[in-house]
Amino acid sequence: KTQYNPSTGIFKSDFALGKPALDRSLYDYMLGDIDFKNDRVVYKECWKAQREITMGELKVKAQMIGQGLREKGKLKPGDVVMLFMTNSLEFITILMATQFAGLKLALTNPNYGLSELTHAYKLTEPKLIFTQSTHFHKFVKSHIPAFKIVFADVNLNRGGVKFIGDLMVDEQRAIQAKPVEIKDLDQVAYLPFSSGTTGLPKAVEVTHRNVVAMLEIMLAIPDYLNGQPLRMIGILPFFHAYALLQCVHLPMKYDAKLFIMPRFEPNSFCDLIANEKITMAPIVPPVFNVLANHPKANRETFKTIEFLVCGAAPLDHETQKRLEDKIGVETRQGWGMTETTVGGLGFNPHMSKGSVGYLLPYTEAKILEPEKEGDGGERKALGFDVRGELLIRGPQVTKGYYKNVEASKASKTPDGFLLTGDVAVVSSKTGEFFIVDRVKELIKYKGWQVPPAELEGLLLTHPKIGAAAVVGVFSKKDNTELPRAFELKSKESVDEKALSKEIDEFVRKRVSPYKYLRGGVRLIDKVPLNPSGKILRKDIRKLVQAEQEEE
Ligand code: AMP
Repeated sequence: KTQYNPSTGIFKSDFALGKPALDRSLYDYMLGDIDFKNDRVVYKECWKAQREITMGELKVKAQMIGQGLREKGKLKPGDVVMLFMTNSLEFITILMATQFAGLKLALTNPNYGLSELTHAYKLTEPKLIFTQSTHFHKFVKSHIPAFKIVFADVNLNRGGVKFIGDLMVDEQRAIQAKPVEIKDLDQVAYLPFSSGTTGLPKAVEVTHRNVVAMLEIMLAIPDYLNGQPLRMIGILPFFHAYALLQCVHLPMKYDAKLFIMPRFEPNSFCDLIANEKITMAPIVPPVFNVLANHPKANRETFKTIEFLVCGAAPLDHETQKRLEDKIGVETRQGWGMTETTVGGLGFNPHMSKGSVGYLLPYTEAKILEPEKEGDGGERKALGFDVRGELLIRGPQVTKGYYKNVEASKASKTPDGFLLTGDVAVVSSKTGEFFIVDRVKELIKYKGWQVPPAELEGLLLTHPKIGAAAVVGVFSKKDNTELPRAFELKSKESVDEKALSKEIDEFVRKRVSPYKYLRGGVRLIDKVPLNPSGKILRKDIRKLVQAEQEEE
């Protein structure tokens, strides 16, 4: 199912090659053909009031807000707004409203701490930020003016904070209104965050064409969505590429109903699967470990599930197998990045052990020989069965990084292949891809992005730290990497244990919980640097390896 052309060095898949139809703007593609009276229930919140929304109601609501943002909010096409929200119906209606109004939407993690929120705010300079009242405390300490904050859930009516209800036009006006015409489909629709292969989080430019292409790709994957109505569970955070496409967008284009939960909790996850007869569950690797040891995760509970979908981080095959045998369901792994809108490989049935599947429709790949330390020379394209850096090209590869020409340029080859920073092998026997390593800095804690550069920058603000490096350490027990900090030993004799504890607490006070130094703190004599002062992560990883071998 995978062809390789040695003269170009390009891998292609056998199916659906060519170009998908990409001549519509995001809003038009998603909701343009939907009747305002369409009564297909598409999303359900599975808590308290158990609210549901139909496709018709979604369109009306999106237009009430979207037209309101234009008339009352005085927003112009191309303006940036930000979403800082947990999974909810409002997340989806506001998201679609921004596309009705032709805005660029920055998608941030509502778990962000103050410094992360400030970084995203300064980078994208949004005109308005949509959030829920539960997150308000984050803004109080920030320099973000109250008049830019819009509550999606309650009317606070004080301090200048806006309420979404006051920004909406009435239903009649909304139904008559027309979406902003997007003349250039390479215009940015969404700005999710990713650190890419190096450095701090950057805003990824996801265009109208990217989102439409990604959905066309998902709909064209052979044997993925087999024409049957889909009942899907939505525990993944909507702001991240994985859920944004799979849980938020797909149900609008395919006959799917999404059962939304704010987060993963094994008891309610299993209950919901059984009670709502869920047929597909998109999850991340650590969920496998929890379910593999949970009494409610059994064949009876999972009898309606056709397959599990897994992505966002490396999945340990033994744990995968343990859960599959326990619940009698197979896993379809996929691989992707925020910079590929979401996907590049995978989701095929009957995958070999540890494989992330085949190239997605309309997608091409290269495997490049590893970069030699500092030589910057041309890298050879490799064929089957040889490890190398994975490069991806396709209509879902995003435009670049917002306001960062240098990083955008460095992220692709002149012929448009994205340098993924992941190391892969393509099997000549089956044509499947295997992700075997990562050459970029990024650490993934339970699917969440932990950019080491961000933690290293923070650590250097601690008065006792002169140099620091952070790397990921894989924990089999939790099926995830854990961030571990290596600090320069102080010249003065200090109590190492006390200092490690102090550093750990210092970090905990300042970043989102998923960035905590769960992998521990180690004090070392020298942080290895290359002549230009860059951290030699390979050498740090060797220290980790040595320690693991000792254990
Ligand atoms: P994100 O932009 O947050 O989706 O992170 C993308 C990165 O997650 C990739 O470059 C990989 O390093 C990692 N990743 C995603 N899917 C997989 C997978 N199936 N196996 C291994 N790593 C993965």
